[in-house]
Amino acid sequence: MTPQTTTADYDDPSRRYSYRSELIERLRGGDGSLECGRVTLRTATSFGFCWGVDRAVSMVRDAIAEHPDERIWLLDQMIHNPRVNADFKAMGVRFLRGPFSDPDGGDLRADDVVIIPAFSAKVEDEERLKQLGCTIVDTTCPWVVRPHRRAVRYVNDGYTTVIHGLVRHEETAASCSLIASRGGHFLVVADQVETARLCAAIRGELGAAELLASLPEEACSPDFDPAVHLALVGTINQTTMLASETRLIEDMIRSAVVVRDGEAAAVDAFRELNTICKATQDNQDAVVSMAESAGLDLMVVVGGYDSSNTRNLTRAADGRFPSYHVIGPEAVDVGSIRHRCPVTGKPLVTHDWLPAGDVTVGFTAGASTPDTLLGATIQAVLEAAQVPLEAALRP
Ligand code: SF4
Repeated sequence: MTPQTTTADYDDPSRRYSYRSELIERLRGGDGSLECGRVTLRTATSFGFCWGVDRAVSMVRDAIAEHPDERIWLLDQMIHNPRVNADFKAMGVRFLRGPFSDPDGGDLRADDVVIIPAFSAKVEDEERLKQLGCTIVDTTCPWVVRPHRRAVRYVNDGYTTVIHGLVRHEETAASCSLIASRGGHFLVVADQVETARLCAAIRGELGAAELLASLPEEACSPDFDPAVHLALVGTINQTTMLASETRLIEDMIRSAVVVRDGEAAAVDAFRELNTICKATQDNQDAVVSMAESAGLDLMVVVGGYDSSNTRNLTRAADGRFPSYHVIGPEAVDVGSIRHRCPVTGKPLVTHDWLPAGDVTVGFTAGASTPDTLLGATIQAVLEAAQVPLEAALRP
């Protein structure tokens, strides 16, 4: 079968194409606030399923409908939401790797259909699919292409790409693979601690061996030599990182280059491009705004535990009030809530989490969280407060 890319007409970011919820559409259509007995619900002005994920999910559904007789594979998780991946598995989609893959793995054939997730894919994976002759459905989000383009430009201009991202995240792994395939070099930093070590190396205060020893596995390109490959540095970031942290990291690296090269030379030796996507930026800005102005008693953030942008939404509230990152309605009980610590990443259980009396609860959701899941979680919170959902939906 000839390799091909299936495209679909999901080009309106203001529309919702999948997993629609009456409650969420009601909140989106109003001022983001509903009075339900003793509970006041507030939603951020921007939250949940982004256009890129909605588009990708819809393209997978189209592929299932268009290829009823072929085996359909996903390279890995479609997005970082277990509910959505489980739904695809229930529809017959197979997973080549990751938590939803079959234990005996996959033996791809030329007549298979293979879906590239919204995160994009490593160059070597794409080449293998083309060699096999599989039909490729590429759902890569257009926002993910932006850091890719910039990284290729850095490679062409002789710069090493420093990526603010998570080294095991599929999007960052794809960026690293692209850079390496073009003969370039990269280094991934997850946070300010790792960036501080990189900056010490740029300033000549940390030896090459010490820097390399401190990096997580696969955080730099093969044969990366700090003495050579930090001379010219350009930054990008995984599209779902915390925007404020990316800005700090860019400033830290620029300052280190200025110390090493002087202000004038640093203009050439350091380049930057903030590649956080609009949906991530909008959702983070909206959480900060809600945290500052909505008089919240607590906030519930809904999304998969391995979802980078969901974790960063919990961090964006900045400890002003209790914030609980939950996976869905099953995490919410009358007396306790099961959530993920945004600092350590460990699962936690908090008891007596819902105050008595009148309470204002803010809600937001990660870009990979379906509206239906957010709606069900809101319903679970109302049930925990012993307020019927009908009170929220009454005209
Ligand atoms: S979070 Fe951003 S980059 Fe990722 S799929 Fe959504 S719009 Fe695209």
